[in-house]
Amino acid sequence: MNRKIRIQRTSFISTALTVILAVAICSSALIGWRMFTRLQESNHCYTICQEAAKQLEDGSDYLTEQVRLYAMTGEKKYMISYFEEADVNRRRDKALAELSMYFDSTDAFYSLKSALNSSQNLMETEYRSMRLISEAYNLPENEWPDEIRDVRLSASDAALSSEEKCSRGRDIVFDSAYQSAREEILSSVKLCTDSLIKETDLRQNQIRDNFKMIYLASIIGIVLIALLSFGICIMIRRLVVLPLISYNDSVKKGVIFPVTGAAELQTLAETYNAVFIENQETQKLIRHQAEYDSMTELLNHGSFDRLLKIYKDGDSPFALHIIDIDDFKHFNDTYGHAVGDDVLRKVASALTRTFRSIDYICRIGGDEFAVIMVDMPEKLMYVVDEKMNQLKKMLSVAEDNIPPVTLSIGVAFSDSIPSDKDIFNTADAALYQVKENGKNNYKIYK
Ligand code: GH3
Ligand code: MG
Repeated sequence: MNRKIRIQRTSFISTALTVILAVAICSSALIGWRMFTRLQESNHCYTICQEAAKQLEDGSDYLTEQVRLYAMTGEKKYMISYFEEADVNRRRDKALAELSMYFDSTDAFYSLKSALNSSQNLMETEYRSMRLISEAYNLPENEWPDEIRDVRLSASDAALSSEEKCSRGRDIVFDSAYQSAREEILSSVKLCTDSLIKETDLRQNQIRDNFKMIYLASIIGIVLIALLSFGICIMIRRLVVLPLISYNDSVKKGVIFPVTGAAELQTLAETYNAVFIENQETQKLIRHQAEYDSMTELLNHGSFDRLLKIYKDGDSPFALHIIDIDDFKHFNDTYGHAVGDDVLRKVASALTRTFRSIDYICRIGGDEFAVIMVDMPEKLMYVVDEKMNQLKKMLSVAEDNIPPVTLSIGVAFSDSIPSDKDIFNTADAALYQVKENGKNNYKIYK
């Protein structure tokens, strides 16, 4: 089945498809942008959290360093630095708070929290050491920080001499128990860093997978848009451009349009063709009416004038007959105008049958006819004689209630008339002589 393709429907579908694909591509680009932002965030988080783990480790290291320095020197400034770090700078607490913002409830978070707890626990030992050192170095009690004052020394610690307190205070921040507690903190920090790496890797892998999907979807969308555009170009060429070119050619050649292309253009072509054919018919009719006599269907006076001029200007010899019906008025008066018309048609028919199809038979007046016999030199005059007799015979009988008719005919040959004479006038003069001499005859001008 030859299905017609409508431009309207096709353009609607292609526009809708283009919009859908464009929206899909824009959405995937937006999602891609969000993924990219998340990737950046993930990297940023990782950096911040790794920094937080380092801060906790550094904070813990700093406390150990300050407590040890205080234990070794008994200089108060180290204890002040210690508590400044623990209570004011609070690097370890801030680090955990920072981590909880990005990795709350993750292994990394719990490991760092455990490191902080261990570090807090270790502080009790450090407070004890600082208390023993403060007492050993006789630091005035009012200069002790609250935490030191709150330390409850055991009876055995309290009974120690200053040297022994000094030595005990140093021992407890350098012994293996302290060292292993420190290692526990460091290993928790390491655990935290490892989980951070793992967690970040996981997040980045997820984002990467999503990225791949988006990239693939975008590529497919772009390929589809490219194919769609290509298809639209081909369709426009086949459905619109080529038909319009062929219509243009048809207009130039003056022929009907080929019915091809989109449905709308096919309808246009069919409408144009119908109008074109109608115009041609009308023009044919107008031309026929302009060239022929409507009653007898013979060539009219105008056509006769044009043809005679052509033959007079040409080289080919011809014979001109001027024919007039005898007493035609009498037919009209006796039998009526309608019979008069029938007589005219009878004469026209007889002339058509008598002369050749290449000859021109014309009605040049009311009851007046003319015949141009082409390729007819004077030496073939006997042909004219034959035709005249034939004609006379044909019209001499009454038929179909049309009475017999007689004609007066003047004939002139183009190759025999003097060059200063006009062939029409000479033939007409011959006719006049026939009328003068009793009608119902023909005369050839000599
Ligand atoms: P003549 O033998 O001398 O030619 O005499 P005639 O009666 O034929 O005279 P004429 O040629 O002058 O007359 C022509 C008449 O033809 C006059 C006019 O009324 C008539 N006639 C002209 N056209 C038509 C027509 O179309 N139909 C009819 N029925 N008569 C026509
Ligand atoms: Mg007449």
